[in-house]
Amino acid sequence: MQFRDLSMQYSFLKSEIDSAIQSTIDEGIFILGSKVQELEEKLAEYAGVKHCISCANGTDALTLVLRAWGVGMGNAVFVPNFTYIATASAVSILGVTPVFVDIDPVTFNMCPDALADSIQRVIADNKLKARAIIPVDLFGLPADYDAISEIAKKYDLLVLEDAAQGFGGSANGKRACSFGDAAITSFFPAKPLGCYGDGGAVFTNDDELCRELHMLRRNGASPKDKYDNLIVGVNSRLDTIQAAILSVKLDAFDEELEKVNYVAGIYTKNLSDIVVTPPIPEGYCSSWAQYTIKLPNSKFRDDLQVYLKSSKIPSMIYYPKPLHRQMAFRNMGYSDKLFTHSIRASETVLSLPMHPYLGEEDIGFICNSIKEGVRI
Ligand SMILES: *Cc1c(COP(=O)(O)O)cnc(C)c1O
Repeated sequence: MQFRDLSMQYSFLKSEIDSAIQSTIDEGIFILGSKVQELEEKLAEYAGVKHCISCANGTDALTLVLRAWGVGMGNAVFVPNFTYIATASAVSILGVTPVFVDIDPVTFNMCPDALADSIQRVIADNKLKARAIIPVDLFGLPADYDAISEIAKKYDLLVLEDAAQGFGGSANGKRACSFGDAAITSFFPAKPLGCYGDGGAVFTNDDELCRELHMLRRNGASPKDKYDNLIVGVNSRLDTIQAAILSVKLDAFDEELEKVNYVAGIYTKNLSDIVVTPPIPEGYCSSWAQYTIKLPNSKFRDDLQVYLKSSKIPSMIYYPKPLHRQMAFRNMGYSDKLFTHSIRASETVLSLPMHPYLGEEDIGFICNSIKEGVRI
């Protein structure tokens, strides 16, 4: 059994994926080109926004948007303390200060009250100018954009949705990648919509931001002449073969989304009496990038993981360390005081195997093993 079985997915889509790869090679265009543009149009339509601008990976997508917005040295950007490191490193790499915000203990997403407190602290400190918020759709569940947008409006901050894990989720009829002033996703192979290498994209309704990103991702090239460079940019483009693969996977995506929701439903039905299962707020849908349960304490969690491993069931701890405890951010001087919920989550979470092709028998075996494991 695999944690996320990509080879099983490939076996279902093999003939389409193989011919998409072959036709790209036959055409001989390997970076950007019409296949990438067609994919961008399909993705924008899926998310319900005007523009999709693909790039080399999700981390770049975050950095490109911040650069295009002119966020730089002396600015503060608010990020949840419990996420994959890229949400914060994409900020730091620009010389911008990431300000960590504690999470909601139930959804694991950025806590709006903690966000408001953090913003007020930055303002009172009077050293950094607050510019933007990057809420993360952690494990596939969209963040609380109603509450966060209200706070953003009050303090005149931009919102960048990190939907690296969120593609396919929705809230109140709006799909992930359509929240905030811009959104990003990642096509890393294990994400909900993954390619066979690195890839990422930005989503926005803002024409000006779209124009700027087209230049930035091609070393600042003018749209009319690629050897006339209008700004200093970077090289961050999507490979055409990856776009061809993504196009096939996007066509199969809704069916896969239904399947992961089915898997999640069985997990929740079987496990909600014995462990804390992930709740989905009214009106929300998750893309189930992860199905993450909570155990009473770290020893309990670690013992259960060992027990599952002895039955050959893979599980993962996303994430074992909140950002403020990472070596990379050790100089920021954060104490544990502000981050009770992130710390508690890092000690008690366990993510279970989750993918569209997980069979009933495997799901039953995992649930039974957890029932046995928690008794020991
Ligand atoms: C994976 C991920 C990223 C980065 O995406 P890459 O394509 O790997 O660069 C950013 N934020 C979150 C929350 C992620 O899970």
